[in-house]
Order: sequence, then C-alpha cells, then structure tokens
Amino acid sequence: MTILIGAISPHPPLLIPEIGRGEIKYVKKTDESLKTVSKKFNELDIDTVIFISPHAPFIRNAISIYSNEDLYGDFSQFGSPEVSFEFENDLEIMNSLIDEGKKYGINFVKLSKDYYLDHGVLVPLYYLNQNIKRKFKIVAMSQHFTIDIEELPIVGEIIKKVGSETGKKIGIIASGDMSHRLLETGPYGFHPSGPKFDNLIINSIKNENFQDIISIPENILEEAGECGYRSIVTIFSAMPFEDYKTEILSHEGPFGVGYLVVLIERR
Ligand SMILES: [Zn+2]
Repeated sequence: MTILIGAISPHPPLLIPEIGRGEIKYVKKTDESLKTVSKKFNELDIDTVIFISPHAPFIRNAISIYSNEDLYGDFSQFGSPEVSFEFENDLEIMNSLIDEGKKYGINFVKLSKDYYLDHGVLVPLYYLNQNIKRKFKIVAMSQHFTIDIEELPIVGEIIKKVGSETGKKIGIIASGDMSHRLLETGPYGFHPSGPKFDNLIINSIKNENFQDIISIPENILEEAGECGYRSIVTIFSAMPFEDYKTEILSHEGPFGVGYLVVLIERR
C-alpha cells in the first residue's frame, strides 16, 4: 500500500478537556478540525500512523525514534497523569526507516525504554483515538533538528519510500505549532515575523508551492518562534503536492500561538 492520508496538527495540551478545562472554548475551530482529521484517518482503517514531533528528544545530527514495543505516554507533565495512551509500536516500519535512512546518510537513533511519548505525539493521538474502530500501530520520531533545510526533504523521501514499499495503509501526522509570537499577550510577546510566518506557510500550502515553504528566510523562522516548520517540510516531502491535495481546515491563535490544521489526502 502507501501513504494514504496525512495532517498537520498543533499540539496544545489545553485541547485535552482534563487539562484545558474551560479554555477549550477559545480553540473550538482547532478542536473541530482535529475531530475531522480523526474521522478521516479512521474511515480509511489505517494500519499505522507515523508521527513527526518537535518535542521528541533532541539528538544532534540525527532523528530520535521511540523504540519500545509498546509506546506509552501520559499528561502527568501537565497535571493529568490519568490521561494516558498505549499503542503498539510498528517495529517493522520503524526498522525500515532506520535501514532506509542509512542508505541516505540519515541517522535514526532508537530511544531507550525510559522515554515516554511527548505531547507532540499525545495531543494528536488523543484525537485519533476518539473515532478508532480498529487499533492502529504507531511510529513516533523527532524532527531532524539540525540538518540544513534544503536537505531536510530527504527525510520525507525516506518516509515516502518506506510507505510505498510496505503492504500497509499509512497515515502521517506532522505535529507542530506555528508562530508563538502572534500577540503581545502571548508567551513570547509579539513580533511582526510571527503573523508573517503563519501567512507564508498558509499561502504556500494554498498555492501548492513547496519551494516557497523551504525558502522561508532563516531570520523569519527564528523571529517567529515556531515549532512546526520542520514537521511541515518533512510531510510535504513525503506527500508531495503533485500526488496529494490539501485542505486548510482551520487556523487560529487566541493565545498568541498559531494553531494550523491541514488535511492531506490523495488526489
Ligand atoms: Zn510545540
């Protein structure tokens, strides 16, 4: 089979009712969009979901990948240990990524058993789990944090190759928030590059222009204070615009952090 579906997903823990409590009403659009993503993934009866997270452990010149047979994570870091998930790791896909990576000079490093899933995986997983019919397996990896952006598409090509050679139905979640500097009241204050970055990404996706995504100047990336950019470059390298259509489900930033939800489906 192949990569059937993908999504760009934000990951604010406040989307989890136990954590966000009343605040979820301010991110209603994001909540509804992620429910749509969940329905679409589960309708396809996906076998395995690959997550690319900016909050998985950082390893220089490598991608970290969770390697336990059963992947567990909870929201204890956010005061809600009772919200927890355990999914079987797709070791076959994980190992194929590692092997394929070697051919391209991309190093995947298996994380030891002490590592639990990060919230970049858990928040989108919380939604995917809502409409589940048959429990899928997961693979969860970090972004490649240190490779030059021009070379980052190699990572997506590796995922694409592994996805096209497996007999399984694959979905991908590119986890990431947009700028954290959309509002003065936000976590890092306002910077004009904040909204600029979010608009550049949204317009590039609307125009189906990958070149525009990878040529966003470094200073804008830095000033915008994003965490999703490398996940986005990776997913559009694994699921290129020629073969996949996109739908921007929502974008909002009531707390100064941009939450963008994009659905990516086969043409
Ligand atoms: Zn983040």
